[in-house]
Amino acid sequence: MADLIQLLPDAIANQIAAGEVIQRPASAVKEMMENAIDAGATEVKLVIKDAGKALIQVIDNGCGMSETDARMAFERHATSKIRSAQDLFAIRTMGFRGEALASIAAIAQVEIKTRRHSDELGTRLVIEGSEIKTQEPCQCPQGTTISIKNLFFNVPARRNFLKSNPVEMRHINDEFQRIAIANADIFFSLHHNGSEIFHLPGGKLRQRLIGVFGSHSNKKLVPVAEETEVLRLNGYVGKPEFAKKTRGEQYFFVNNRYIKSNYLNHAVVSAYEELLPTGTYPLYVIFIDIDPKRIDINVHPTKQEIKFEDERLVYNYLRVSVRHALGQYNVMPSLDFEQDPTFSQPAPIRPRPEAPTGTGNVRTSGSSPAAGHGEASSDAGRHASNLKHWQDVYEGLDEFDSEPEVEATPGQEHEEPLTLESDWKEEQGSTPGEPVQEKKKPTQLHNSYILTQIKSGIMLLDQQAAHERILYERYLHVLSQQKSTTQKQLFPRTLSLPPADAALLRELLEPINQLGFDIQEFGANTFVINGVPAELAGKQDDLKTIESLLEQYKGNLELNLGTHENIARAMARSAAIKKGKMLEPNEMQTLIDQLFGCEVPYLSPSGKRCFITMELEELAKRFE
Ligand code: ADP
Ligand code: MG
Repeated sequence: MADLIQLLPDAIANQIAAGEVIQRPASAVKEMMENAIDAGATEVKLVIKDAGKALIQVIDNGCGMSETDARMAFERHATSKIRSAQDLFAIRTMGFRGEALASIAAIAQVEIKTRRHSDELGTRLVIEGSEIKTQEPCQCPQGTTISIKNLFFNVPARRNFLKSNPVEMRHINDEFQRIAIANADIFFSLHHNGSEIFHLPGGKLRQRLIGVFGSHSNKKLVPVAEETEVLRLNGYVGKPEFAKKTRGEQYFFVNNRYIKSNYLNHAVVSAYEELLPTGTYPLYVIFIDIDPKRIDINVHPTKQEIKFEDERLVYNYLRVSVRHALGQYNVMPSLDFEQDPTFSQPAPIRPRPEAPTGTGNVRTSGSSPAAGHGEASSDAGRHASNLKHWQDVYEGLDEFDSEPEVEATPGQEHEEPLTLESDWKEEQGSTPGEPVQEKKKPTQLHNSYILTQIKSGIMLLDQQAAHERILYERYLHVLSQQKSTTQKQLFPRTLSLPPADAALLRELLEPINQLGFDIQEFGANTFVINGVPAELAGKQDDLKTIESLLEQYKGNLELNLGTHENIARAMARSAAIKKGKMLEPNEMQTLIDQLFGCEVPYLSPSGKRCFITMELEELAKRFE
């Protein structure tokens, strides 16, 4: 019997290979634009007809090709970008497989005009279905113009498989935008059916983002910029209040290459914590620069996936950096700190270990090289700088003459990350005993809201939401520090619980006691409460607090928080002062001060606003 196996002719092999690299017009756009960038172009123009089905033309002013190279470029695995397998581990260019031009030439009618700077005449080549139809010298500007006509003309099955023009055009737009964002210094334009859709002069990244996302996006952007020996991060994240209902404005670039990564996306989104309303997606454009030896981009034919040598390190670092950026910038929408010189330069990162949680694997851990230094000083530094920012907001408001009381904001007795009074005073430069100007005390409305004056107008705080935020951050801190103060009960009380709740409390006993409770199991679903956190002593019915804590905890379960985060939230919710509680002026002042010493003063842990502001101007308008 005759042998059955035959080698496929090149043209067919190329067509098959093309299916991997070129799935639709947008893939060709990506490959050609990347080639232009690899060629050192400073101007790249993209001309599209019929969503790329009729024409994709890329005009660049890059290095151009010699006559021989122009021919060679269309051979499979012909590339000027790597020479040996070793080079694969140090890839800095976009292309490297030498497959794109060969693939495209297999499934389209391609014309290329190219000229090097040193050559007088350029080269024109016409190729159809891998066959060279014309090769001749030509007059043309320096650089390369590639025109791809009638994509898939010889593969009807694929051509019919293309989607409607709007859909294909959206894909082209996506690719164009990714490349334009990744190369802010290069001029790009995009024409579709004769009209110019994008015209993006080279410049800074912020300018480019405004060019791509629209001018309204300027006020949304919060810069991220951090660096370690291993990697460098820079770019922008969107302020949470501008998060969109759809994904879209989310970009990662690793060594300037656009990548998709659910894992890294999670790192960014989790840095927003509860700042994002559910079902919304924040904007981010983040560039990660890392030694090419530490990544593998040769995972997927379209090269949008990437492997990091140490994925967790990148995750943690990314998360900390975004948090840091948001902590610095995420304040009130009405106070644009970007215009404030103290905000224009993010301090160098001082990563610090986060509170460990049940989900451990996605949390920053102190053992990662990026987060291993400067724990203690970072806290102090963060609070000091946070304080400075708020001080600026408050400037001209009040002298803080009152000795803040611990009433409304318990827990001052022990070492306290959020107690800012002493630093605050120092910065204010007021000495005890000195006569102080009549200060405008905050006012309580309906025993629920606190009205206070700020530099630009007025601010209204929700006392319960604000206190929840303060306590939440404090408890998270306590849980990570393993340090708290317990107030022994004179008369221990017993708590009987339904079996399921008893089981839950048993499970959570350790972290709950860490918060300052002293609860012991007494058998038969009963517990003895020997002590409560010092700041709660005598404030609330302890049994109710614990029951509420368990209720809150259960309610949070579907949020998939870590144990510590959940407990901190539940406890903050249970222990916070409630609406309807009358507060003394100094209690209110302490509440305000402590809120703005928080990392994220803007929202309560459950996502409620802690305060709203109104500018004087707006106020005046209301009276018109
Ligand atoms: P790769 O980019 O992976 O090397 P391609 O098939 O995309 O493979 O391109 C093959 C070669 O053709 C490139 O290595 C480069 O030398 C040359 N080339 C392609 N496009 C251009 C361009 N616009 N300007 C200059 N040279 C180009
Ligand atoms: Mg290429």
